Amino acid sequence: MRRLLAPSLVLPHSITSLTGAVMRYHHLRGLILDVDNTLVADHESLASPEVMTWVQSMRDYPMWLVSNNFNEQRIETIAQQLQVPYHCRAGKPSRRRVRQAVEALNLPTASIAMVGDRLLTDTVVGNRLGLFTVLVQPPGAPPILRGWRSATLRTCERWLARRVGVAL
Ligand SMILES: [Mg+2]
Repeated sequence: MRRLLAPSLVLPHSITSLTGAVMRYHHLRGLILDVDNTLVADHESLASPEVMTWVQSMRDYPMWLVSNNFNEQRIETIAQQLQVPYHCRAGKPSRRRVRQAVEALNLPTASIAMVGDRLLTDTVVGNRLGLFTVLVQPPGAPPILRGWRSATLRTCERWLARRVGVAL
């Protein structure tokens, strides 16, 4: 349990704080990114200019988006905006879609960062597949101003993780 819930790296800020320097330091060569509350706030249908700039700055690293969202049109719109291939309806922590992205990246698993805001989906699936797991904070406003549902989920997950001894 603890092994599955412990991210390889916890970033105290949003995804744009994952820089090329951080990638090089951890010998990372590719990225698999969650979408909702990782790249975009869950009520937004387009990535912000900051996230667009960040994706451009990371063009040296091949990327995939893997989302659990069932709204394919929304995820496709964001993927097209960012020009990154995607899977939606992934059912993380199921490995199937993430494994497909790993195969498409064709890199050693330990050199791929699985980046997301949720422990029970993103971190668990990444750890199951031997990826380098990165937990990020949602973009935009502080948590109290965002949807109570996702904020509550995150709080519960982090409480659970601490209970099993994961340092966050
Ligand atoms: Mg998410």
